[in-house]
Amino acid sequence: MKNFIKHITLLLLVSFTQILQSQSSLISDSIQTYIEKAEKLQEEYKYGQSLEIAKAALQNAKYNNDDKSLGYIYNIIAKNYEINENDKKARGNYRKALTYARSSKSKVLETDLYNSLARVYTKHNLTRAKGVTYYKQSYEYAIKLNDTARMIRPLLNLGEYYISRSDFDSAYEYLAPARELIYENSSNLVKTKLSGLLGKYFLNIRDYEKAEEYIDEAISYSLGETKNKNNNDELISTYFEELASSYETKSELYRKQQDYQKAYYYQKRQFQNILKAKDFKKLIELQRANIKYEVDQYEEKIKKAESEKKESVAKVAKWKISIILGIILILISLAFLISAYKNNIQKKRLNGVLIEKNRELISAKETAEQVSTLKSQFISTVSHELRTPLYGVIGLTSLLMENPEEKKKSEYLESLKFSGDYLLALINDVLQLSKIETNEVTLEKVSFDLRSLIEGIVNSLHTKQKSNNNTVHIDIDKKINTTLLGDSVRLSQILINLIGNALKFTKDGNIWVYVKCLDQKEDKYVLRFIVRDDGIGIPKSKQQSIFDNFAQVKNENQEYEGTGLGLAIVKKLIHLHKSDIKMESKEGKGSEFYFDLSYEKAVKEQEISLQAGENISVGTSNFNVLIVDDNKINQIVTKNILKKKGYTCNIASNGMDAIKMLKVEKFDLVLMDINMPEMNGLEATKVIRTFNTHIPIIALTAVEEGEIRNQALAVGMNDVIIKPYDTQQFFQTIMRNISKVKMA
Ligand code: ADP
Repeated sequence: MKNFIKHITLLLLVSFTQILQSQSSLISDSIQTYIEKAEKLQEEYKYGQSLEIAKAALQNAKYNNDDKSLGYIYNIIAKNYEINENDKKARGNYRKALTYARSSKSKVLETDLYNSLARVYTKHNLTRAKGVTYYKQSYEYAIKLNDTARMIRPLLNLGEYYISRSDFDSAYEYLAPARELIYENSSNLVKTKLSGLLGKYFLNIRDYEKAEEYIDEAISYSLGETKNKNNNDELISTYFEELASSYETKSELYRKQQDYQKAYYYQKRQFQNILKAKDFKKLIELQRANIKYEVDQYEEKIKKAESEKKESVAKVAKWKISIILGIILILISLAFLISAYKNNIQKKRLNGVLIEKNRELISAKETAEQVSTLKSQFISTVSHELRTPLYGVIGLTSLLMENPEEKKKSEYLESLKFSGDYLLALINDVLQLSKIETNEVTLEKVSFDLRSLIEGIVNSLHTKQKSNNNTVHIDIDKKINTTLLGDSVRLSQILINLIGNALKFTKDGNIWVYVKCLDQKEDKYVLRFIVRDDGIGIPKSKQQSIFDNFAQVKNENQEYEGTGLGLAIVKKLIHLHKSDIKMESKEGKGSEFYFDLSYEKAVKEQEISLQAGENISVGTSNFNVLIVDDNKINQIVTKNILKKKGYTCNIASNGMDAIKMLKVEKFDLVLMDINMPEMNGLEATKVIRTFNTHIPIIALTAVEEGEIRNQALAVGMNDVIIKPYDTQQFFQTIMRNISKVKMA
């Protein structure tokens, strides 16, 4: 855009200059040619034409920034005005010429200009002094230029000036050097003037002899020149004037010598020559009138041209303004268009974003609605599921309270236990699921023995489901010969659910639990876990939904108890391990669930035998256990469970008591509650560890395991059991910890 405006401006400038140049017909000529032509026309008294050419040259020189030529041109113009007695204009143009002569360092022109200016200034009383300075300056410059002719000129002028003022001493100061400088080829006018002035000087200092000598010399030069046919009228007139002046001096000379006759004679001659000069002057005057007319006409022309120029400048300015306005208009429209285009693009983009956001919102809304329906469905089904066993618990308790017959008692108690177990399982499952969904479950890394873990699970589940009369086959790849490092608790949860289901949905059949080593690296195994049964199988229509949350809560088949959350939990736990579960099943034939998990190797191969020795059978020991719990019911429950298995138990109601008792009595293990008044389990453990580092201390708490495990281990506890607990696991944990100490 900038460039475009530049071009337009340049175009305007060029055309504008061309308009001006077209006024002159001499566009193609060089400036130098103009100057020469103007000078020639001046010599031919064609002042008007000379001025016209000079002005045309002026425009050209200005356009080319040619200062040197500008100096010369203004000099010609000034001279034209000076000849035509327009001193004001002459002065102005000489001054302009001087400025350009200075800037272009044209010393010769500068010298001449000082002389010319001095000539114009000395004509008038007010500017005379300045004129004298200019003469002196011209003389100085001429000396520097070593130009004799140019040196003589101001000297003569100064001499003439001082003589006219009757300051003869000052006059001689300049006339003497002029006399020294004059030479053969100096012009006759110069010679005439110098002689005439010297004559006047010597007359005034009363050196009559020398005076007459110089006057006669001047008369002789003048007389000769008045008859010279080559001289123009103006020059002849000047020589007649010089002659008249010389005769006047000569008359004065004789008058001073009291030769009045001769004085009269020369005075007569003086007048005759004045008249002759005047005759020529008349002619000149006549010419001048002509010239004046010519110059006036030129002036007129100039004025007209200037007003035309102004008009055209105004026109150009108008034109320029219109163009600029047009450009501005175009620019504004362009900017408007661009912004409209940008707006459009932005609108489209925003629209796209809006559509995308809308889509996201709709899907979020749908998900929220889905979640909300599932949640309400869940609440209604869970509450139904809770209500059913609770109803059983209340009913059975009432029956028991009514003191039934002894043989019914154990039947009721069994049902009561069943309802209690179911309630616990449901609550555990729901909690587990909600924890996974809110990303609260993180995988732990503990070392464990896979074989004993699976065998433990099978043992405990098998006892529960004895009525189904199934045979469980465990086949663990021999390649897995080290303990593993990983989250054994989550693996147990997965396997308990899958093996539990297999045992539940199979009658008089077989369950196979396989662990195959798919890949083995230096530090890890990739294992495939398979749980297969030859039970009832899953109908095709159900296969899609069995892993869904809550989907199975409404179990149409009331024959099988279960929360319907097991597989949902399994799938999520396997996802946590960055893997997935697959299922193949045929109705009536059986089902197979399998998944792959990677585990790091925990210990070196030879250590496995020692670990295997840990697998102590349940219920075979008689150890002394300290139960630390502030809740009386819990104290009784734990004590009775332990006693049944042959353990000896002591009870401490808080941390302080526990410390005291441990200091005086020997125990094999401590079961420590965490939340207790006065001193909590963690603080108590810290103190115990200061005097007893070896005794196994197991946290027994209702606090969620993930929250407490790290804290418990940090203060020196050995393990954590979460209430309510599975009795099998409870004893396994106790035994594992006791045997560790015993074996150490
Ligand atoms: P549930 O508590 O009902 O067992 P799960 O989520 O563990 O809940 O199982 C969902 C449903 O999938 C079960 O109710 C059952 O219908 C079906 N199912 C799971 N495992 C098996 C299996 N091994 N054989 C047949 N059906 C199974």
